[in-house]
Amino acid sequence: MKILITNDDGINAKGLQALVKALEEVGEIAIVAPDRERSAVGHALTLHHPLRATEIGANRFAVDGTPTDCVNLGVHNLISFKPDLVVSGINRGGNLGDDVTYSGTVSAAMEATLMGIPSFAVSLVTDGEGSNYKAAADFAARLATAVYSNGLPEDTFLNVNVPDLHDSDIHPPLITRQGRRRYDGTIVDKLDPRGRKYYWIGSVEQAFLDLEGTDYHAVSRGHISITPLHLDLTNYSSVSILKQWDLG
Ligand code: MN
Repeated sequence: MKILITNDDGINAKGLQALVKALEEVGEIAIVAPDRERSAVGHALTLHHPLRATEIGANRFAVDGTPTDCVNLGVHNLISFKPDLVVSGINRGGNLGDDVTYSGTVSAAMEATLMGIPSFAVSLVTDGEGSNYKAAADFAARLATAVYSNGLPEDTFLNVNVPDLHDSDIHPPLITRQGRRRYDGTIVDKLDPRGRKYYWIGSVEQAFLDLEGTDYHAVSRGHISITPLHLDLTNYSSVSILKQWDLG
């Protein structure tokens, strides 16, 4: 099995190193990752300036672009093989619920799927630096083997979240659905030293609705969560409703 590894925390991130170590046991690997942290860039693709790739080892490259750029450059130009699988992560911090569309980690997996390559994203659910990357990496290796032998449904990729717990406290994986974030005024609004207003988006707490069957519900109870995501975001049940509108 030939595996391309990328992430959005940058090529030197602890999570990527742990992932590389585990996936080397199950396949031949290549790494194409951003040269610095690119978290929350979503599915951004760089179009308006050139990209540079620095070769840091055999089939290992640092790119001054986004995770989506890395998958594109990696597959089309940089690495010496066509990957059977693209694995993105291990992200420092969960990618749960509505947050998946902000996520560079998840978007890299989406990009690979758009290119017809099976893929999954792995994140370690932590508010800090994260400790048990090894558990997430070992699970990623097991999942890689399962994806390689079973394949994935059409246009589908996996969003995996692993709780940052001791090995013995991690419960078996559950297949989940995407959860919902609780939006509750998490924009800080203050004055800078020159008296001008600034805004800072974000909250440190994991504010998700505790809905049965969701990714959040699983990881908050110590389970590994696997959510199958689909490229097609169409809400089919709304098509007939919208068709009834009088739009001329
Ligand atoms: Mn990240």
